[in-house]
Amino acid sequence: MSIKYDLHCHSTASDGSLSPSDVILRAKQQQVTAIALTDHDTLNGQAEAQTTANLHNIDFIPGIEISTTWENKCFHIVGLNIDPENAGLNTGIKSLQTLRHERAKKIALKLEKKNIPNVYEGVIKAANGGMVTRAHFASYLLAHNYISTQQEAFDRYLGKGKPAFVSTQWADLHEAVNWITQAGGVAVVAHPLRYKMTASWMRRFLAFFTEIGGQGIEVVTGRSNPDEVRRASRLATQYGLAASVGSDFHSPDNQWVELGRLAPLPTNIKPIWELF
Ligand code: AMP
Ligand code: MN
Ligand code: MN
Ligand code: MN
Repeated sequence: MSIKYDLHCHSTASDGSLSPSDVILRAKQQQVTAIALTDHDTLNGQAEAQTTANLHNIDFIPGIEISTTWENKCFHIVGLNIDPENAGLNTGIKSLQTLRHERAKKIALKLEKKNIPNVYEGVIKAANGGMVTRAHFASYLLAHNYISTQQEAFDRYLGKGKPAFVSTQWADLHEAVNWITQAGGVAVVAHPLRYKMTASWMRRFLAFFTEIGGQGIEVVTGRSNPDEVRRASRLATQYGLAASVGSDFHSPDNQWVELGRLAPLPTNIKPIWELF
């Protein structure tokens, strides 16, 4: 049987709509043979996902997606093949969990000023103990008819520069990469073409990322077109980074993104799983 990887997806431990177990079961249905669950700033879904993966004979790679800040810009760094019990990593992400709660309160206050009440209670209830993200706010606004698409929530309220945007100092990029490497994992730049950076900022960022021990970059994501795969591969080659593949699946409701539905990785590039 051929190997099919998906190394980036979300469960109810953060802003995904399926439980960790259900993510694994759906991956199995989609013929995924090796999966990493990479929830935002939490490892809470790992044990459940690992158990289900073992039962169903799927190769499970422990993972996380850490929110980081470098030069006042936010970058998502995926940690793969980490030890989910590692003390340093667990201590590190605890501060992000507190930060997410405080930020959620601030976003809710800003929405209240726009005459949108009770959002905090709403998103806390929806997150059900998991990490609260802007995706929860978008869903709340959608469910209560303040907007008509998720995207509109970001365009009108939640995006950078919009009335309910709360500028946040996430984990320092260098520290977050250290947490991952010290937990035995490899640090991977998530969705590199989504940061709206100029080419020169991208060069500075990747030069720094490799200098501090970053080892990978996502070359294929759930929505990459062939040109994007080529551009990301070129970055991988230029900076000596290994290539990762991950759908960034959040929910079956998004018809554009499915677990394991990924363009093939170009053959002239080093796959990240050679480092596991
Ligand atoms: P946060 O980390 O709390 O800022 O939330 C980021 C999450 O919101 C991402 O992981 C996505 O799930 C979601 N998200 C971000 N931008 C958009 C967008 N433009 N449209 C839909 N969802 C988005
Ligand atoms: Mn998300
Ligand atoms: Mn992300
Ligand atoms: Mn993600």
